[in-house]
Amino acid sequence: MTKPQSQRIFDKIALIGIGLIGGSIALAARRGGLATTIVAATRSAETAATANRLKLVDHCGTDLAAACADADLVIVCTPVGACGEAARAIAPSLKPGCIVSDVGSVKQAVINAMQPHIPAGVHFVPAHPVAGTENSGPEAGFAELFDGRWTILTPLPGSDAAAVDKLDAFWKGLGSLTERLDPADHDRILAITSHLPHLIAYTIVGTADDLAGHLNSEVLRFAAGGFRDFTRIAASDPTMWRDVFLNNREAVLEVLARFQEDLFYLQRAIRWGEGDKLFDLFTRTREIRRALIHLNQA
Ligand code: NAP
Repeated sequence: MTKPQSQRIFDKIALIGIGLIGGSIALAARRGGLATTIVAATRSAETAATANRLKLVDHCGTDLAAACADADLVIVCTPVGACGEAARAIAPSLKPGCIVSDVGSVKQAVINAMQPHIPAGVHFVPAHPVAGTENSGPEAGFAELFDGRWTILTPLPGSDAAAVDKLDAFWKGLGSLTERLDPADHDRILAITSHLPHLIAYTIVGTADDLAGHLNSEVLRFAAGGFRDFTRIAASDPTMWRDVFLNNREAVLEVLARFQEDLFYLQRAIRWGEGDKLFDLFTRTREIRRALIHLNQA
């Protein structure tokens, strides 16, 4: 794993939202010495108090615009559905030359929601760290979250190249590997690699719970292996994931349709005892797992 660079890139960073991702950015930025001052603002006084008690940032308040005054980098770390409103709230206090970014798990919808509010002279560079856990809130943040994980930058046509490079360097400083993608490509790729797996996990755990009720059985007591792994994913934040599905609707519905076709293929193979079809698929998928391990992303 590459060791993060350690150097100051920004004078002042402001984080809007300080949960798992905002908190982890704060801790990793401090670890890397990437900024002189790191402040945050969040919706509730309670979360702000927790962030201050944990000393995640130099100061956390609830006035989003005030936090952004004089900031060189502002990262919106709220659920996807709140990004547009956050951009509207902070717009009046953004200084010329400031870079505004986000961490949303969906890119095109966030761009559509935030871009209209970004003032002229401010550089908007959307991004998404492909790293996370099922935990949320400021207490869930940790400095190593992004180490060796990908962060995808989705610059817009006409994005200032120096601003994009600076944000890229920042994410490398947080420990990430970086890549640049078109926002629509990002949304299609994440629909299959992240969004659909979460939908499947939510479904399986819900179905098992319903079944357990009908059978009056103790599903949880025998939750070894596969099911237990699904319960971890299905414990992910309900607000965040509701927003992901509502904001990446088309790409998710497209991969869901393909997934359902493939599931019917397996259903038929099981019904007709076509073991070779099952064996061939399971052999192919085992290779994919091995390739992931080889790429250090397992
Ligand atoms: P989180 O732990 O739930 O934290 C969300 C933060 O946003 C909290 O500080 C919350 O404030 C604040 N917030 C919520 N609604 C707000 C609003 N309307 N206005 C202002 N602040 C608001 O969430 P997270 O896991 O860090 O996720 C944040 C973003 O990162 C999401 O867009 C998600 O798609 C993306 N992301 C998540 C993961 C992951 O695995 N979790 C991975 C990559 C990217 P209060 O607590 O004060 O209400």
